[in-house]
Amino acid sequence: MLLSLKDIFVNDGMKSEYKYELSLSDIELSGIYPFKSDVSVNAVIENKTGLVTIDIDVEYLYCRPCDRCFVEVETLMNERFSHRLVESLESEDNDEYIEATDCKLDLSELVTTDILLNLPSKYLCKGDCQGLCQKCGHNLNLGECDCDKREIDPRLEALKQLLD
Ligand SMILES: [Zn+2]
Ligand SMILES: [Zn+2]
Repeated sequence: MLLSLKDIFVNDGMKSEYKYELSLSDIELSGIYPFKSDVSVNAVIENKTGLVTIDIDVEYLYCRPCDRCFVEVETLMNERFSHRLVESLESEDNDEYIEATDCKLDLSELVTTDILLNLPSKYLCKGDCQGLCQKCGHNLNLGECDCDKREIDPRLEALKQLLD
């Protein structure tokens, strides 16, 4: 969605709101398409005494296998991203400031970047996910398996050999 922000940049006090659904279903991350439903976007752009800001609220279902047990889980994500919009950017490397070249802003591109940069780096089905048994692959959230779980501490093992 390409927005023209000319009016907002010149009119102090002006405010515009954009609500729409954005599809990210073709975005692939490590072989997974985690955005199964559309992203609800609600963006408010406002000129407050010459400072133009954008607040973007998004809500979407994020669906990906748990990092420990690999069971696919859905999480309803609610996030807010805020930026300052400027007509030209003097110094790069500042993601708080977004440049609206020729007073145009590609809102969908900005929303997509914000979402991708804020995805959880560690994704667990629950905080205390027990993961899989390293021997048989059983999902330990569903109960114990029959494998022998006694870990032999390699330092103790070396000591034992010395003593023998
Ligand atoms: Zn898990
Ligand atoms: Zn096992």
